[in-house]
Amino acid sequence: LTDLLFDAARLNLIEHYEQQLHFFESTVYGSEWEWAPFTVLLASVLNGLGEGANAFFYHFSYWGHVASMLIFVNLLIHTKQFHEMTALPNVFFGSLDYPHSIPPLADLEDESAWEEGRIGVSKLEHLTWKQGLDLFSCTECGRCHDVCPTFVTDKPLTLKRFNQSLLKHLRNEESTLFRTGSTAEDKTLVGEIIRPETLWACTTCRACEEVCPVSIEHVPRILGLRQNQTMMEEAYPPEMASTFKGLERNFNPWGIGFDQRADWAEGLNIPLMADTKSETEGQPPEIDVLMWVGCAGSFDSRNQKIARATATLYQKAGVKFAILGSEEKCTGDLARRSGNEMLFQMLAGENVETLNNYKIKKIVTACPHCLNSIKNEYPQLGGEYEVFHHSQFIAKLVDEGRLPVSSNLKDTITYHDPCYLGRYNKEYEAPRNLLKHAAGEPMREMKRHGSESFCCGAGGARMWMEETIGSRINENRTEEAIQTGASTVATGCPFCMTMISDGIAAKGKTESMQAKDVAELVLEAVEAV
Ligand code: SF4
Ligand code: SF4
Ligand code: SF4
Repeated sequence: LTDLLFDAARLNLIEHYEQQLHFFESTVYGSEWEWAPFTVLLASVLNGLGEGANAFFYHFSYWGHVASMLIFVNLLIHTKQFHEMTALPNVFFGSLDYPHSIPPLADLEDESAWEEGRIGVSKLEHLTWKQGLDLFSCTECGRCHDVCPTFVTDKPLTLKRFNQSLLKHLRNEESTLFRTGSTAEDKTLVGEIIRPETLWACTTCRACEEVCPVSIEHVPRILGLRQNQTMMEEAYPPEMASTFKGLERNFNPWGIGFDQRADWAEGLNIPLMADTKSETEGQPPEIDVLMWVGCAGSFDSRNQKIARATATLYQKAGVKFAILGSEEKCTGDLARRSGNEMLFQMLAGENVETLNNYKIKKIVTACPHCLNSIKNEYPQLGGEYEVFHHSQFIAKLVDEGRLPVSSNLKDTITYHDPCYLGRYNKEYEAPRNLLKHAAGEPMREMKRHGSESFCCGAGGARMWMEETIGSRINENRTEEAIQTGASTVATGCPFCMTMISDGIAAKGKTESMQAKDVAELVLEAVEAV
């Protein structure tokens, strides 16, 4: 209103009293009537009051407008509409890491951090300023609800409510926190503000981050809270104890003897890196690429078949590759996602040392979790490599004509996007292109696919935890696959493979449906030529 009054008075002072109050004078912008019809109407009413009254309205409404804006802004800060001011800066200050923010490398040598409980996040003051801004910026639109696999399956986690709980605490503490840097009530976030089962429900699938209109980064906060719970409190789901022990002693989550890591390759004549060392010491070995097998490919019987199919494809294409065998250790993905940063740094550090000793430049892996760790997180520890998912690598071999593929597979295929390949590493096309080459008929997409894909439930170390609340995430996903009428669910992740296979069994569909890795389907298509 003050703006309208100001403009109407200004218009009268220009047109009837020859005052030079133009904002711009150019015919190309058209007339006042075209731009501001209500102003012109009000001006015609005010005109009869004379120059003095119009000058008064002009000055009064100018300062009235400034004052009301200042009052509004001050009130806004204390309402939930504050997000109108913080949303834009929140997007602007979003992480520049592409395509997602990389968890920071915790300084585990810092003794004062251990003494003061500052490993990870346990209190409000441990959040970064950006994480605080995230809390103020939530518009409560609820988009994150709809895509979250835990919310959809009735578990107690939604990003919206998670934000609301933390924001309420922040609002209560803001005056003390901003003045002193610490909180008055000294509440522990997990336990007093967020329930532990909420924290541990997250699969770190990033679906919520992908849809959030104000770019709130949820997963780093979850990982920070888990890190504190695991490292400082030893308060993790009890099932994780044996998983951690397996990783510590045998470098794989099942705890199977590390010396059996290359047993899957028996009879395939795959060289070990130790045997391919360049004759000239200090030179890179003479291989095209290192095949990173991962724990599932090495030890899980279903995934061992995928490792064998993948290696067979490389051999058919004449790729010079080798494996590390018992020198390979878990990448540490599940340790980091479950908050055990120390174990992550130990495993990742040892892997980086091994890879750097062999002067490895190029790595290919069938596991998106391994891919994500080695490609995006190992640079934090001095490991810089060119890393490919096996679907990307095989697609290149097919494009180069090194793998002749016949497109006459009988399977009707739908494809489940692994989140650590898709949302985490933006690869949606390579597996689909391979399936197009191999399949006899067009692929049937699930409703939730690509960047909107629905997690299988195994990410964020959930693969190693019990799922006791609500319905099962993998069954929800499998149900969607069944609805496509496909006979085969293709995927490119060993954990998705386990989850989808279990889902098919739980739905009693083992007779009519199966889960296969893209490499297995390509091998079938190659062998059918
Ligand atoms: S999508 Fe983002 S803005 Fe919307 S409720 Fe969720 S966190 Fe808040
Ligand atoms: S990362 Fe996935 S599981 Fe976790 S809150 Fe977001 S949508 Fe839900
Ligand atoms: S197992 Fe597959 S779908 Fe599930 S979180 Fe990992 S990559 Fe995503």
